[in-house]
Amino acid sequence: MADTAAEDVLLELLNTTPVVRGSVSDALGTPAEGRAWVRGRGGAGSDEEVAFLVAARDALQNVVRGRREAECLSEFLEGVSKVPAFEGGRLEWALRVPEAHRLAVELLLTWAHVEETRPGRLKPCGNPDCRRFLLDRSKPNSARWCSMAECGNRMKARRHYERVKGAQA
Ligand SMILES: [Zn+2]
Repeated sequence: MADTAAEDVLLELLNTTPVVRGSVSDALGTPAEGRAWVRGRGGAGSDEEVAFLVAARDALQNVVRGRREAECLSEFLEGVSKVPAFEGGRLEWALRVPEAHRLAVELLLTWAHVEETRPGRLKPCGNPDCRRFLLDRSKPNSARWCSMAECGNRMKARRHYERVKGAQA
C-alpha cells in the first residue's frame, strides 16, 4: 500500500464506530459486514482475520484517545518481522506476518509511522459526542473536527448558544 492510501484505510478503520442517531454503530459489527470490509481492503476476510482486526482497532482507538499506552499494541505484533532482500538492485524490507494478521499489522505500522513523522496529526474529533477521528493534513495542524459540515458547525452552534445563555444569566 502507498503511504497516503494506507493512511486513508487506517482512518477508515478508526472511523468504523461512529455515533449514528445517538448510539454507537459498528461497520465491522456482524461477521458479514466484517468480511466485506476486510475484502474491500485487500484482505481475505476469514473469521480470524476480522476478529484480529477488530481487536487491533479497539486497542488503537484507545491509544489515539489517550486512554492507553502504545505498548498495548505490542500483542498484535507477535510473529512479525521485516526481512531484507535485494530486488532490482535495491535493498527492500519485506514484512513477514501471519496472513490473517497482515492488514491489521500494516495499519498499526502505518499509525506508528504517522505518529513518528507527524506527531499529533491523527486525533479524535473535538466534538465529545462524536467517536470519529481525523488526520490533520493542514499546515498549521489546526483542524479539530472529523467534518466541518457535521461536527464543526454543531460545536460552533453549541458554543454560540452557551455564550448567549451565559450573557443572559
Ligand atoms: Zn466529529
